[in-house]
Amino acid sequence: MLDQILGKNTTIILGGGLAGLSAGYVLTKAELGVKVFESDSTVGGLSKTIIHDGFRFDLGGHRFFTKDRELNNFVKELMREEIISVQRKSKIYMRNKYFDYPLKPFNAILGLGVSTTMEILADYAAEKIKNLIRKPQNISLEDWVVSNFGRKMFNIYFREYSEKVWGIDCSRISAEWVARRIRGLSLASAVKNAFFKLNAKDVASHVDVFLYPQLGIGRISDRLKEDIEAGNNSVLTDSRIERINHSDFKVESVVINSRERFVTENGMEFISSIPITKLLKMLHPAPPENILTAASQLRFRDLVIAAVMINRKRVTDQTWIYIPEQKVPFGRIHEPANWSGKMAPEGKSILVAEFFSFKGDRIWNKSDEELTAVTVENLENMKFIKKHEVIDSAVLRVPNAYPLFEIGYRERCDEIYEYLGGFKNLHITGRSGMFRYYNMDHAIESGIKTAKKIIKKCRIQDEEKKAENHVS
Ligand SMILES: Cc1cc2nc3c(=O)[nH]c(=O)nc-3n(C[C@H](O)[C@H](O)[C@H](O)COP(=O)(O)OP(=O)(O)OC[C@H]3O[C@@H](n4cnc5c(N)ncnc54)[C@H](O)[C@@H]3O)c2cc1C
Repeated sequence: MLDQILGKNTTIILGGGLAGLSAGYVLTKAELGVKVFESDSTVGGLSKTIIHDGFRFDLGGHRFFTKDRELNNFVKELMREEIISVQRKSKIYMRNKYFDYPLKPFNAILGLGVSTTMEILADYAAEKIKNLIRKPQNISLEDWVVSNFGRKMFNIYFREYSEKVWGIDCSRISAEWVARRIRGLSLASAVKNAFFKLNAKDVASHVDVFLYPQLGIGRISDRLKEDIEAGNNSVLTDSRIERINHSDFKVESVVINSRERFVTENGMEFISSIPITKLLKMLHPAPPENILTAASQLRFRDLVIAAVMINRKRVTDQTWIYIPEQKVPFGRIHEPANWSGKMAPEGKSILVAEFFSFKGDRIWNKSDEELTAVTVENLENMKFIKKHEVIDSAVLRVPNAYPLFEIGYRERCDEIYEYLGGFKNLHITGRSGMFRYYNMDHAIESGIKTAKKIIKKCRIQDEEKKAENHVS
C-alpha cells in the first residue's frame, strides 16, 4: 500500500478551491494520505456558492463547460443527479440597447446602425491591407485588437469592457495573453463571431448549453470535500497557512493559523493552490531578492459582488448580461434563479452585480450600504427593477479574482516557475496558484495532474524500496 511507504497524511494541500480539492480527491482515491488547509470558513474558493436566507448565488455566475470528455465525466460522476443542463442566454447592454450575445451580425448592424457598421468593416479592411504591407508589432491588447479588428471596432466593443474588467489601459495589457485567450475574453469572441468568422470551431466556447449543479456551483467543491473525508482524509477550514519551512529546496513543514492557534504540520509532498505571490512571501527562508521583486510585480484584479434579493418571480430571462459602458459601475449581472429554480425561494429572485476592482480602491472601500444603493439605482435606471421590490441584499469582497496580465508578466512568471521548479516536493497548481487564466475545468484538470504526478512518484519510490529489500 502506497500509504504505508510514505506514512499517513503525507500530502499537505494549501487551499481548498477546485484545484486543491481535486488533487486531494484523486490522492484519496489512490489511498494516499491528504490534509487540505483552507483559510476561509467554507471550501470552494472562487467557485463557491453563498447561502443567504434561502437565496443562493455564486461569486459571479459559474457555468461548467469543457471540451475534455474525461473531465466532463469526472464532474458528472461526482455530481450525479445534482447536475442539470442549463440553456445559455446572454446579452450585452450598450447604448441603452440590448445586443445578442454572442453577437449576431443582423442584430449588431441594427443596434449600431448601418453607417457605423460600414465604418467598422472599412476600418477592418484598411487594417488588413496595412498588415500585408508591414507585419504588425503586437505588444499590447490594444495593438492586437486593432491589427485584427480595426480601431473603430476596438473603440466600440473592446476598450470600455476590457478597461472595466482589468482596471488598466488596454495598451498595458499583454497581447501575448489576449492572442491566446481571445475566446476566453467574452466580448471579444462575440464580436469576432459576429463580423468575421462564423464557423463552428470559433463558437465552441459559446455553447448554448452548460452544466450546473442545482444548488449552485459550490456543490462541486462540497462533493469533493465529502469524498476526501469519506476516504479518512481531512479538509480543514478556517486554517490559514502562514509559513512554509524549507531547507535544501525541500519543504519540511507548514505553519497553520487555525483561529489564532498555531500548528506545525509536517508532510512529504506539498501542493499549493494559493496565490503564487502569497506562497513566495511565506517561504522561510525567503526566496532570493530577484524572485521577490518579480513576485511584487505580479498583480491580481479583485472583485466586489453585490446581490439584491427581489420580491418578484423573475426579473429577466437571461443567464448573464454584460455591461461594457463605464457609466454603469458594474460589468456584468446574472440572475441565479434562471440557472436553477432552487437558487431563490418560490416567487422571489435575485440579481448579482460584479464590480471589478482593486483591493483598497474607491469601489472596494465603499460601505456595503453604498454599494447596495449604487447597484439598486443602476438596476432601476436600466429598468430591471423598482427600488421598492428589493427585500434584502448582500455584499462580498473577493480578493485575487483575476490574474492581471500586464506586459512583462510572462518573463516574471518564468523566473518564478524556474525557482519554484527547483523544489523537490513543492507543486504549484490552479488559477492563482500558477497565475494562469484558468476556468474551472482547467483548475480541476491541473489539480488532477498534480495528484497523478505525486502518485507516480510514490509508485517509483515503492518499486525502488521493493528492489532494495529484494537485494538485501
Ligand atoms: C467572477 C468570476 C466568474 C467566473 N466564471 C467562471 C465560469 O463561468 N466558468 C468557469 O469554468 N470558470 C469561471 N471562473 C473561474 C473559476 O472560478 C476558477 O477557475 C476556479 O475557481 C479556480 O480554482 P482554484 O482552486 O484554482 O483557485 P481558488 O478558487 O482561488 O482557490 C484557492 C483557495 O486557496 C485559499 N487560500 C488562499 N490563501 C490561503 C492560505 N494562506 N491558507 C489556506 N488557504 C488559502 C483561498 O481561500 C481559496 O479557497 C470565474 C472566475 C471569476 C472570478
